[in-house]
Amino acid sequence: MNILVTGGAGFIGSHYCRYVLENYPQDKIFVLDALTYAGNLTTISDIRDHPRFRFYKGRIEDENVVTRILREDEIDAIVNFAAQTHNDRSLLSSKEFLETNVIGVHNLLVCARRTNVKRIVHVSTDEVYGSITEGEFTEESPLRPNTPYSASKAGGDLLCRAHFVSYSTPVIITRGGNTYGPYQYPEKLISFFVTRLIDNKVVPLYGDGNQVREWIHVEDHVSGIDVALRYGKEGEIYNIADKNERKNIYITEMILDILKKPKDLIRFIPDPRGKAHDLRYSMNCDKIKKLGWKPKVPFEKGLRSTVEWYVKHQDWWRPLLQKPEFKTFVADFYGTVLGKDL
Ligand code: NAD
Repeated sequence: MNILVTGGAGFIGSHYCRYVLENYPQDKIFVLDALTYAGNLTTISDIRDHPRFRFYKGRIEDENVVTRILREDEIDAIVNFAAQTHNDRSLLSSKEFLETNVIGVHNLLVCARRTNVKRIVHVSTDEVYGSITEGEFTEESPLRPNTPYSASKAGGDLLCRAHFVSYSTPVIITRGGNTYGPYQYPEKLISFFVTRLIDNKVVPLYGDGNQVREWIHVEDHVSGIDVALRYGKEGEIYNIADKNERKNIYITEMILDILKKPKDLIRFIPDPRGKAHDLRYSMNCDKIKKLGWKPKVPFEKGLRSTVEWYVKHQDWWRPLLQKPEFKTFVADFYGTVLGKDL
C-alpha cells in the first residue's frame, strides 16, 4: 500500500511512519508536512533515507500539491496527522487552527475524492467531546468542544462525516487520548515540564493541578490508528485511549521523582484556560478493541522511559527552545505569571 502521511514530521505522525516501515515491508510512506514550528526534519532523520520513504514540504490546504502527490505516487490511503495542535496557542490566536484543521481537512477530502483514494484516516482527539465528570464518552457522544483548538478539530471531523454521507468518501475518524512519548514538541504538559525540570526551572501547573487526562503512549496510539486504517469500517469513528486516568499534579510529581528534583519547582498558577479548561477526559474504546487492538505500554513504565529519552536526546529538543516560535509563545503565555522564573 502507498500511504500519504500528512503531518509526518510531527510527534505522532513520525512514530506512525516508523511503525509502518518496520511492520509492513510492502508499504511505502510519502510524507507531506508544512514544517511549521512543530514539524522538524530532525524528528525523521532516522528514516529520511529509507528506500520506502519520501518527504515533501507543503501544506494540506494546497490543492495542486495534494492532487499531484495523490496521482504521481499512486496513493492508496491518506492518514492525516497534519494539524495545529496546541490548545494554549489557540487561545492566543486561532486563525491558523481553522486554516489547517478545517480548510486543510476539507481540501484533503476534495482531492481524495477526485483521485479515488481508497481510504482516509483522519486523526482526531478526545477533546472534541469536551469534559466529562463521570463515566466515559463513546463514539456516539455529542461534540462539545471548549477551546478554539478542539472546535477546529470537531469541524474537521464533521466534514469527514459529511463527505462520507454525501459522496461515500471512504473516511474513518480516530479520536485519541492525551499522547506522550519521545519527539513531542516541548510545549505540551509532559515534554514542557521534563525539559524545564532538566534545567531546574519551575513548572507552571494550572489551577490546583487536579485536571484528569487519559494518557496513552505514542506507540499504542499509532498501532490503534493503523488498526483503524487496515481493519476499520468506512464512515465509522474509533476512540483510542488507554485507561490511564491521572491528575496533572500526579504526573508532575512523578516527573520530579524520576528526575530527582525538589517539589518546590512546582508553581501553581491561575488557570489561563479559565472555563475552557476541561476537568476530565475519558473514553470507551470497546469498538477499536473489537478490531483486535490493545494498548501495551504500562503508564508508569512509559513515562519513565519517556523522561529518560528527553534526558538522553537533548540534541533534539535544545535547538527548538532557542527558536523564536518557542520563546515568543512561552513569553506571551507564561511571562506575566512566571516573571523572572521564565
Ligand atoms: P504536532 O503538532 O507534533 O505535529 C503536527 C504536524 O503537522 C507538524 O509536523 C506540522 O509541521 C504539520 N502541519 C501543521 N499544519 C500543517 C499543514 N497546514 N499542512 C501540512 N502539515 C502541517 O502534533 P501531534 O501531537 O503529532 O498530533 C498529530 C495529530 O494527532 C493532530 O491531528 C492532533 O489533533 C491529534 N492528536 C494529538 C494528541 C496529542 O496528545 N498530541 C492526542 C489526540 C489527537
